[in-house]
Amino acid sequence: MTEEIRSKYQAVIGLEVHAQMLTKSKAYSSDVNEFGATPNSNVSVVTLGHPGTLPKMNKRTIEFAIRMGIACESDITEIQSFDRKNYFYPDLPKGYQITQDRTPICENGRVYIKDDNDQDKAIRITRIHMEEDAGKSIHDVDVHDTLVDLNRAGIPLIEIVSEPDLRSSHEAYNYLTEVRKLVRYLEICDGNMEESSLRCDANISVMLKGSKEYGRRVEVKNMNSMRNVQKAIEFEINRHIELIEKGEIVAQETRSFDALNGSTISMRSKEAANDYRFFPEPDLLPLTVDQKQIDAIKAEMPALPRDLFLKYTQKLGLSEYDAYNITDNKDLALFYEEIIAETKNHKAAANWLMGDIKSYLNHNGLEVADFPISPKTIAELIAIIDEGKISSTVASQKVFPALIEDASKSPLKIAESMNLIQDSDEDSLQEYINEVIANNSAEVERYKNGEKQLTGFFMGQLMKVSKGKADPKAANQLMRSALDNL
Ligand code: ADP
Ligand code: MG
Repeated sequence: MTEEIRSKYQAVIGLEVHAQMLTKSKAYSSDVNEFGATPNSNVSVVTLGHPGTLPKMNKRTIEFAIRMGIACESDITEIQSFDRKNYFYPDLPKGYQITQDRTPICENGRVYIKDDNDQDKAIRITRIHMEEDAGKSIHDVDVHDTLVDLNRAGIPLIEIVSEPDLRSSHEAYNYLTEVRKLVRYLEICDGNMEESSLRCDANISVMLKGSKEYGRRVEVKNMNSMRNVQKAIEFEINRHIELIEKGEIVAQETRSFDALNGSTISMRSKEAANDYRFFPEPDLLPLTVDQKQIDAIKAEMPALPRDLFLKYTQKLGLSEYDAYNITDNKDLALFYEEIIAETKNHKAAANWLMGDIKSYLNHNGLEVADFPISPKTIAELIAIIDEGKISSTVASQKVFPALIEDASKSPLKIAESMNLIQDSDEDSLQEYINEVIANNSAEVERYKNGEKQLTGFFMGQLMKVSKGKADPKAANQLMRSALDNL
């Protein structure tokens, strides 16, 4: 497709994200919620929906959903009820899913992303509701049969539904990144798309640019990574444009992403869509959430990535780039918070974190939690550089590696024991300068004849005779005046 044709059209995207909650037990029973257990080991009669069993709401799920609602600036619904969504599938033992069709726990929220021009954009969140996961049909273990593992059946989910506010696959990628960051900061979901604890259905349509009316949408499922979501959306946008250009109509259907080919295939058409026969869940009482409860949850919430980003860029003067990278990972951001509690040199703290510390972690495949040096010690390291006791080069090349080996020592002690403390004492600097002048008479002559750029050469010599210990700032001044007064 030519760029010219492509640029006539505008893509419109809305995402439905399912997040598995990190609760200890399931949504409506006390069965254990864990990934990777022996198949069918966390399955009680409640999960199986045997006659006479009753669901019981997990309070923790409500709290987690409210956390997400607050983080997305949503309205929290005061009185909620539950609904049954009926369908028949081998991995759904009850024959229905308990969800919130009429009264989602959260409505009217927003998530902030960067748009294609790197500007802030608010993506509206239509609703967040609580529901339960289905079991898992496994087609690739037994050659003859499909196996069913019901451990996943009943694991609490929240579904986060966006308005069709996204305008490109890149924006969709950014949105998903922000949602994943939020659930991770809130510690309500591990955000792992490969293990399906975070899943995304993408709704995609295209229209002519400037059009007021959205095109026909297609829903794509089964993308198990952020990149695949982006790929599936790109594929669909092109497919829709090609159809429209040929004068054909985009069928309203559900499609499945095929990661091997990077394409999508039709699963079912909307005409054949399931009739879920929603009706109120008779076995669960309506749920009331009051302001006191919301305030209590709010008080316990951690700082959110966007708040930290705004603090770093607006109050601490960090670049957007640094602020984005630090807040990308909660542990990294918390580590940074601890360093800046001990130093006012916020920029140096960011440089250490994004430079030496991050490369050490990446190089050794470690997480922030495994980093041996404490934030306080990093702040001490910054302090002795700022005091002129060691240069940043020496700090990075000598002191930092020594701290990695033995993080119990103070940076100053290490610098002293390795004989790295800079000389800024005037008498000893003067001695070095005299030596440099005596040893380089030819260059001194040239300097006197106007080759002022030789200062760099003399400083190099000075670092050599001082074995790198001369404080360059103090020495530079003295060197110039010594040469100019010859
Ligand atoms: P369904 O229950 O069939 O999935 P919803 O009304 O819940 O339908 O919408 C699901 C998603 O589809 C939402 O995220 C919404 O933003 C998105 N959506 C609706 N219309 C369009 C459209 N024309 N193009 C792209 N996405 C759309
Ligand atoms: Mg849908």
